[in-house]
This record gives sequence, C-alpha cells and structure tokens, in this order.
Amino acid sequence: MQIKRKNKLIVQKYGGSSVANPEKIEKAAKRVIAYAKRRNRVVVVISAMGDTTDDLVELAKQINPLPSEREMDMLMSTGEQISSALLAMAIHKRGVKAISFTGAQVGIITDTDHTQAKILKIETDRIKRELTKGKIVIVAGFQGLSTALEITTLGRGGSDLSAVALAVALNADVCEIYTDVDGIYTTDPRIEPGARKLKYITFDEMLELASRGAQVMHTRAVEVAKKFNIPLHVRGSFSKKEGTIIMEKPPVIEEPVVRGVTLADSEAKITLSEVPDKPGIAASIFTILARKSVNVDMIVQNVSHKRYTDISFTVPKKDLKKAIKISRQMSRSIKAGAVTSDETIAKVSIVGVGMKSHSGVAAKCFSLLAKNRINIDMISTSEISISCVVKKDAGKKAVKVLHKGFKLDKIKT
Ligand code: ASP
Ligand code: MG
Repeated sequence: MQIKRKNKLIVQKYGGSSVANPEKIEKAAKRVIAYAKRRNRVVVVISAMGDTTDDLVELAKQINPLPSEREMDMLMSTGEQISSALLAMAIHKRGVKAISFTGAQVGIITDTDHTQAKILKIETDRIKRELTKGKIVIVAGFQGLSTALEITTLGRGGSDLSAVALAVALNADVCEIYTDVDGIYTTDPRIEPGARKLKYITFDEMLELASRGAQVMHTRAVEVAKKFNIPLHVRGSFSKKEGTIIMEKPPVIEEPVVRGVTLADSEAKITLSEVPDKPGIAASIFTILARKSVNVDMIVQNVSHKRYTDISFTVPKKDLKKAIKISRQMSRSIKAGAVTSDETIAKVSIVGVGMKSHSGVAAKCFSLLAKNRINIDMISTSEISISCVVKKDAGKKAVKVLHKGFKLDKIKT
C-alpha cells in the first residue's frame, strides 16, 4: 500500500516592497499559484503596498496632528485590505481559486491596545473551511479584531507577526517570509559588499541582531516563532534562491563564533557628571527614566573620584530631549553637576551563539578596533553579543574591520 503524503500547509508572507505595484502583485500571484499547484495548501499574509502605511500616517497628520489611536487603526488597516483584494484578483485572473480576508474576518483576536495590539487567539475555522474548498487564503497582515470588537493593528511591521501567529495557529509545515532582501546577511551589504548570506541563524541570534540594528524581521514575530519553535524561511520575493532559515538548532557542525555585525546610529549618549557616589542614586535616575518610557540601552558608571562619579547612558535619539530634561531635573535634586549629550555616536555589535563556548571574543573585538585606531567609548555585552559605542564617523569602518577580523567574508553558505 502506498501512503499518500499529506499536502503541506504553507504560510507565505509578502512584505510591502514585494507588492509595491501591480506588476509585483502579479509576480507574487504567480509565485503563490506555483506553490498551490504542487498540491500545497497556501495561506498568504500580505503587507500594504510599498509605503502605503507611511502615506496613511502622513495623511492623518495633515488632518489632525493628534489623531485618536482607534481611528489610526481604522485608517492604517485599510492598506493591507487593498493589497489582499488585489492579490486575490490577480490569482483569479489566472483561473485559480482564492479568497481574501481582513484580520477581523478570520478571527485574529487581539487585546484593546490600539496601534500596538497583541494577538490573544486566532479562530482558524474559517481559514480551514476555505482551504478545504481548495482556495488559496489571503489574509491582510498587521491587523486584528479586539475583544471590544474594534479593528486593531499590531505595531509597525506587524505583518510578520500575523504570519507567524497564523503559522502557529494552523500548525503550518513551513512559514516563509518574502522580502526585498534574499536572506539574512552577516552584515549590511550596503556597508560591506563582502557580506555573506547565512544559510541558517538561530532565533536568539536573530533577536539579538534585530535589537542591535538589523532591520529584517519584526522582533515580536521572531519571539513568537521561537516560543512555538516554528522555523522561518526569510527569502527574496523575486529570486528562486534559498534564503536564510531562522531556527532553534541549525544543522551545522562547525559554527563560526560570530555570525553577524550590526551598526546602529539611532541612539544618543547622555552624561551626568559629578554624581554623588552613594547607594540608590543610579536606581532613582533609571527608575524615573523608565517611568517616563525612555528606553535606556547602555550604561557606564566611572570610578568614583572624591565620592563623585560620572554616569553615561544611551537613549533612542527620538527620546533625547525628554531624557535630557529628566536628567537635568534629577541632577538638580541629587546635587549632581552638568548634563551633557552627544548625538554623534554609533553602536557596532557582533552577535553569535558561539560566544557562549569561546573565550577571547571580546579581547579580539577590542584589539581589532584598537589596531584600526577606532576608539571605544562604551561597551556592553550579553551572552551572545558584544556592543561598542564609537564615534559616528568611525561606525562603518568598525563594521568592516570586525567583519573581516572575524572572517565573516569567508563564511561558507
Ligand atoms: N504595513 C504595515 C507597516 O508598514 C505592516 C507591515 O508592513 O508589516 O508597518
Ligand atoms: Mg510595510
């Protein structure tokens, strides 16, 4: 007796740049159909066309600089509704059955936190029914229906999250993320042309790379994929090549210690000088910053001289004004000295799970920078990453030096 292989259930997500115009939508349609023809069941999650969401946000601002978040969700969710319907039409034109849905229609239920909603559950009945009828199911990404029956969105870039959540809920065999790059690279190829595409990367490395400047995937989407152990295949929409698989345990025997280098220049440094060196001061500074939702990244406290110390920390540039104001108030109340800031910094980071079991990675990183006369201003480390703050104009050079120094240009892919 021959056992018939069960058809695969594939969730494919197409990013905004992959459906930016009618021609690209047609190309995406062809790709989706090719998968469906191989007797797979396909669920497509789609982003808004090109810069649609940005344009909608801009439009809202022209009408009202402080729009309500509920209305923003009403507005922003339309972008994905447009692309979904158009993709369905492109598929129909080729004589293949497909149906598009909003998030609400397929029961993507979220909390009531407008513009940043969290998915609570997905009722998969409708999708399953349509799949059984042999249809390709297209779901508008980035959106859901709140427990208060309102339309919500999941935060910018949230279509990735819709795709991963659907893959989990439907117990999909594969979750593919189609984007304008053909995978995850060892560093940004625009900075280092010798950057190599990675075959595999772990969830943790991907999360670390994303939080340190790599802008490939939505962080929460990777977290959910990790939690439910769903491998993600990140690949180019217009290429046949394999992309990068993000998974828990990549099947490679010899792992490079460092797998990626990132550069971020979205942070600024604040220094509080002559801070009284006594217990509780740091706690109060960072408690107040946290309460005002300023996300502090790196912190350095110098050795104390005559019972005074300097404390430097980095914050997102967009929060700099707020953070300076808070720091000045703090400085007055704790009788510290001047508050200064520096926006001309960049953060370079190296990431790799191999660091857990290799010593000397930090030393090598610092000496590579030193040999190239790049001064390190601040350092922070995690189990699988090392970040250095350098002068902004040395940032790109630092990336190149580390990329080469850790032999990432020689990685076999
Ligand atoms: N269209 C939304 C955005 O641009 C969601 C997404 O693209 O994933 O943020
Ligand atoms: Mg987008």
